[in-house]
Amino acid sequence: MAGEPQPDCLFCKIVSGDVPATIVRETETTVAFRDINPQAPTHILVIPRVHHRDAATLAAAEPQIAADILREAGHIAADEKITDTGYRVVFNTGAGAGQTVFHAHAHVLGGRGMQWPPG
Ligand code: AMP
Ligand code: ZN
Repeated sequence: MAGEPQPDCLFCKIVSGDVPATIVRETETTVAFRDINPQAPTHILVIPRVHHRDAATLAAAEPQIAADILREAGHIAADEKITDTGYRVVFNTGAGAGQTVFHAHAHVLGGRGMQWPPG
């Protein structure tokens, strides 16, 4: 069921503590941890504790938690001192756009120059 922990979901296992992660911030509704394969000096994932397959599905079901993720992205940028130089918040949605873990997550990327459009 949407929102319920999924037994085969990697990020549900990070939320439960069954899979270790370098956690940088936690709230009642979110967990943020360093990406295992960083694409920038700062590369942190912010996820909801509840399971939804992507950001749009999360936002439709639990808009307050989607807002919590964006607020956390801002706190992370401040903590990482990348607010002034600029940073990117990315929700890959669907395999064709590069989504590999189907538990909603924001990538917070910064600490280097970035190109537009993204690849
Ligand atoms: P996406 O490709 O948008 O679904 O993003 C999934 C991200 O999860 C990728 O950037 C991976 O590097 C990252 N990732 C996969 N496994 C782990 C893990 N155990 N701990 C932290 N990050 C992970
Ligand atoms: Zn999950």
